[in-house]
Amino acid sequence: MTPDIRIGFANSVGNTPLIEIESLSAATGCTILGKAEFLNPGGSVKDRAALYMVLEAEKAGLLKAGGTIVEGTAGNTGIGLSLVANARGYRSVIVMPSNQSPEKIDLLRTLGAEVELTNPAPFTSPDNYYHVARRRAEEIENAFWANQFENISNSEAHYQTTAPEIWRQTGGDLDGVVMSSGTGGTIGGVTAYLKEQNPQIATYLIDPTGSGLYSYLTTGEFKAEGNSITEGIGINRATANFNRARLDGAFRGYDQQVIEMAQYLLKHDELFIGSSAALNVVGAVKLARKLGKGHTIATILCDGGGRYQSRMYNPEWLAEKGLTPVAKGLEFIDD
Ligand code: PMP
Repeated sequence: MTPDIRIGFANSVGNTPLIEIESLSAATGCTILGKAEFLNPGGSVKDRAALYMVLEAEKAGLLKAGGTIVEGTAGNTGIGLSLVANARGYRSVIVMPSNQSPEKIDLLRTLGAEVELTNPAPFTSPDNYYHVARRRAEEIENAFWANQFENISNSEAHYQTTAPEIWRQTGGDLDGVVMSSGTGGTIGGVTAYLKEQNPQIATYLIDPTGSGLYSYLTTGEFKAEGNSITEGIGINRATANFNRARLDGAFRGYDQQVIEMAQYLLKHDELFIGSSAALNVVGAVKLARKLGKGHTIATILCDGGGRYQSRMYNPEWLAEKGLTPVAKGLEFIDD
């Protein structure tokens, strides 16, 4: 027998299962598949981007022995980067907005990252976490700013790994993919690769409230309204990574749908997932209804529910937000 052993963090990233969500296949007449990115060693889809950004920076001579990795993040990229940093002997400095879940902040500190919390501020403000991270990287000697929004190694990770895995796991029998976007890394890399394999695959964005991407894709102008309890997704500008995406259309998704879907999947499919993953699954049902019965549709289960236990799985927090789940079936998804 040939041994099959993965050595360390870097070699344990990726090759996640593609899981059929049976209750939704039955409800839609399609095959609904979720890529279980919450099973990555750092618990999210961002492990892939973190690893690629560090390996590419080393190759380019941007990250040297004893260096510091600096990044602005909603949390998951920071968790991935801190793990790669620990594995490869770097220090990590993570800048994140203070309104992200306490579970992610605590985990980052446990992993040894130096965490700086910033007051939530729009991108146009110098206090926005993105700009603060850039300045920290300028101030620290021998520092590398990962810059996941504009660093193409982010989407390249998904072009080289996530998408080929989905293509292989479905045996090329795939009619549609749908997902939300934060930096645009996942949607950029996955849709670029899949459209090259088969241009007939329908590629869709699902966008939360508070994000301008839906408006950008449907009208050509960025316009964002409201806000959302989702974390790690939604943006009001086109990044280099998002610009790689090849998309056929876009859906909107709402917080109440996120909460209802999260509860639905817990009850029917033993899936315990985060808010962006739940939104993505809402998108998968919408795309199934759009394409009609008999199609195979894949989406991304970006991270797990444990990261949001105190929020979207906490009845008191939900009641405060007016988001108590009430649905009996899938009636919360409009067409
Ligand atoms: N979901 C979660 C929970 C995330 O942390 C992120 C990363 N910001 C995303 C989705 C979006 O992924 P991407 O940055 O590749 O667009």
